[in-house]
Amino acid sequence: MRTALVLGAGIMGLSAAWALSRAGFAVRVVEQDPVPNPRGSSVDDHRLIRHAYGAQAGYMRMVDPAFAAWGTLFAEAGERPYVPTGVLALAHAADGWLAESRAALRGDGHAVTDLTAEAVASRYSFLSPAGIAASFHLPSGGVLLAWRIVAMLARLLAARGVTIERRQAVRLDPARATVTLAGGGKLEADLLVVAAGPWGPRLVPGLAARVRPTRQIVVRLSPPPEHAEAWAGAPMLLDLAEDGGFYAVPPVAGTPLKIGDHRFAPTADPDGPREATAAEAEAILDLARRRIRSLESYRLLSAAACWYDVEPGERFVIEPLGGRAWVMSGFSGHGFKFGPLLGLALGRAVRDPALAAAFPPWAAGEAPPPPGLLDDIAQDTLA
Ligand SMILES: Cc1cc2nc3c(=O)[nH]c(=O)nc-3n(C[C@H](O)[C@H](O)[C@H](O)COP(=O)(O)OP(=O)(O)OC[C@H]3O[C@@H](n4cnc5c(N)ncnc54)[C@H](O)[C@@H]3O)c2cc1C
Repeated sequence: MRTALVLGAGIMGLSAAWALSRAGFAVRVVEQDPVPNPRGSSVDDHRLIRHAYGAQAGYMRMVDPAFAAWGTLFAEAGERPYVPTGVLALAHAADGWLAESRAALRGDGHAVTDLTAEAVASRYSFLSPAGIAASFHLPSGGVLLAWRIVAMLARLLAARGVTIERRQAVRLDPARATVTLAGGGKLEADLLVVAAGPWGPRLVPGLAARVRPTRQIVVRLSPPPEHAEAWAGAPMLLDLAEDGGFYAVPPVAGTPLKIGDHRFAPTADPDGPREATAAEAEAILDLARRRIRSLESYRLLSAAACWYDVEPGERFVIEPLGGRAWVMSGFSGHGFKFGPLLGLALGRAVRDPALAAAFPPWAAGEAPPPPGLLDDIAQDTLA
């Protein structure tokens, strides 16, 4: 039996381990922290999945296969930690991210409904119409309950006989598929997969020139009683203007309302503090204040920092490293939704040289899917 060593137990490492185990590998996962790891990019109450993707049509088209891969994973786990919400996109300008999303979505036949500012405020009483120049609603998309999903994957892997060992890797030798551990000792396998999130650039030669870790702030809020019911059935809000937008995750399945900012923050050490300062929290609240009525009446529950691994064009870096290793990086704040899909694709690419060549440009959002790959993954769904 071929052996695989996976470095990192975030959504990417665990999904790769799951797929490699399904592909017949004996898999070991090495993780420096407890799992689920709240210091990892993957571990928070929620992560969004949505087709609205600006002009990034490659990633928009990856969302349906991603849903299929989640279906495969949820079926095997016997759980469905996902809440459909749909999308409400908002913008203060008629062009930009919203207009690009609308054009790409309509081009691919998605059901986009344009809304006036008044219609937005009448449907969603917690929103102000002031300054809304464009808006649309999209019924698809929702909230992946990320923390629960990571815990679910760890249980599923244990049931498959995959071990997750709490060790820190200090050095890699991709050519030999070897990892040197802190405190001594080496691990070796036939295949090494490095999915180290924002720590990846430290470990993988050459990656720091392409991917940087950034410290992103989120705030968690409790809406006042008069808006609680409207928020309970609300869509995710995407107001992703380059010059000061925000996203909001509605309070689903017992989680708080969360607001964040998708603009990339400066580079920061991923071992840095997780607590956000009052000024950092206020900067995020300020972005949402012009859209959400009486935001001062919302209770601030917490504010925290979470790290992205940013590739400047938001292109995923999933590439072979020599003959015996692969790196998964550059997820830039939008990777979670694709974890199982990319894991299943990797589980095939490591056994198929033609697929190995075609996988990286597709993962980067720049090329159509490798021929046959999505059908093959869909068959897996039915298995
Ligand atoms: C605030 C925020 C909001 C986001 N929102 C969304 C969203 O709505 N939708 C979406 O799709 N994506 C979203 N993302 C992005 C998504 O969460 C990430 O792209 C994804 O979780 C990355 O997963 P990962 O497995 O690569 O990294 P991680 O989850 O960080 O996992 C890497 C793991 O490797 C381990 N590791 C690192 N170095 C070592 C070492 N030397 N030895 C042993 N272990 C090591 C780490 O401890 C860590 O557990 C968001 C991210 C953030 C921070």
